[in-house]
Amino acid sequence: TATNQALMARRRAALPTGLGQTYEVFVDRAENAEVWDVEGKRYIDFAGGIAVLNTGHRHPKIVEAVKAQLDQVHHTCFQVVAYEPYVELAEQLIARTPGNFAKKAYFLSTGAEAVENAVKIARAATKRQAVIAFGGGFHGRTLLGMALTGKVAPYKAGFGPFPAEIYHAEFPNPLHGVTVADSLRSLEHIFKYDVEAERVAAIILEPVQGEGGFYVAPPEFAQALRALCDQHGIVLIADEVQTGAGRTGTWLACEQWGVAPDMVTMAKSMAGGFPISAVIGKAELMDKPLPGGLGGTYAGNPLACAAALAVLQVFDEEKLLERSKAVGQRLKDGLTRLAAQHPSVQDVRGLGAMVAIELFKGGDLSQPDADLTKRICADAIQRGLILLSCGTYGNVIRILVPLTASDAVIDEGMALLADCLTACQA
Ligand code: PMP
Repeated sequence: TATNQALMARRRAALPTGLGQTYEVFVDRAENAEVWDVEGKRYIDFAGGIAVLNTGHRHPKIVEAVKAQLDQVHHTCFQVVAYEPYVELAEQLIARTPGNFAKKAYFLSTGAEAVENAVKIARAATKRQAVIAFGGGFHGRTLLGMALTGKVAPYKAGFGPFPAEIYHAEFPNPLHGVTVADSLRSLEHIFKYDVEAERVAAIILEPVQGEGGFYVAPPEFAQALRALCDQHGIVLIADEVQTGAGRTGTWLACEQWGVAPDMVTMAKSMAGGFPISAVIGKAELMDKPLPGGLGGTYAGNPLACAAALAVLQVFDEEKLLERSKAVGQRLKDGLTRLAAQHPSVQDVRGLGAMVAIELFKGGDLSQPDADLTKRICADAIQRGLILLSCGTYGNVIRILVPLTASDAVIDEGMALLADCLTACQA
């Protein structure tokens, strides 16, 4: 039988280096918040496939829905011959998206594609070119996705030139010295130094930066952006690829803003691991591109639509939005206790169940400790805990455990994390 080591050797020979892999583990099977590797070792999954498994691995309702769809039809290309689950999913997502205006929705396959499509529509609708994104943001690995992403290494290094007319403002991050006022000033600077507001098609932001470090955009910041966009006729896009589908305690994180974005992108957990992404937005904008300008061969695949509809059903039946808040509180309480014992843990933060800690050398906020973060993750995998790091400074440990995980499994994972902090002398 295959070992992790033997499979790693084959992987290294056959796959390029640029395709990262956090852990030298090959999975055999998984269930809810637990994973077993090819050697039979068990892991608690605090990564959730990078925010994809809010409903856990192989939720029975989702598996059942996909199997049923598989027996009916599994591909036509929606733009050739349509199928009801696609339309049903659009209707249901529209109903769950904030904004007191008519909306439309359609599907792609990846988060990056959803982002690209939102920008395409904003440009077509406004007849403007420029897009403003934020430092530390992550929007995907396609050419436009990379251009919008606010982190050079490893995402952009060597891959240019990038599409023109993309500008980066500062994302609010008080821990690292950027207030909401500073962030708004950086936008004013873009309008002053680089591009007139009248040429800006869209401002795109993550309600909580994901890859960038789990920094939460305060509601007053979103409200200020909304006002700025209204003033200048700019489309406000919430990239909810990582925050969406119940991670933050509401279906969409932007529900907590008190103002609505014009467009939302979703992917990841919306179909519990089946490849589909969505653009949901103001109907008057969404209808601007010409027929044939939007879509994709696999986009909105019937199996993924069936999975996404099952995810919505599971959220309702199992009250997963309430569970998201409860999981978030449980994680924050546990991490706050750890922070009290370990000086290197300087911040416990997040929205709903999108929770993280940030690590600094000796607790000194001027010394982000990426090395310690790496050691903790490496120690965790040995102990049977799949952890993810993130952050502009590589010093954040983020938790994306399935919302369906039992308290017992969450507590077991938290106890392992505590052991890691102690062992790594954090
Ligand atoms: N936007 C955000 C906020 C993301 O977190 C990600 C993925 N981490 C993407 C876009 C890109 O999604 P995908 O990898 O599915 O293209």
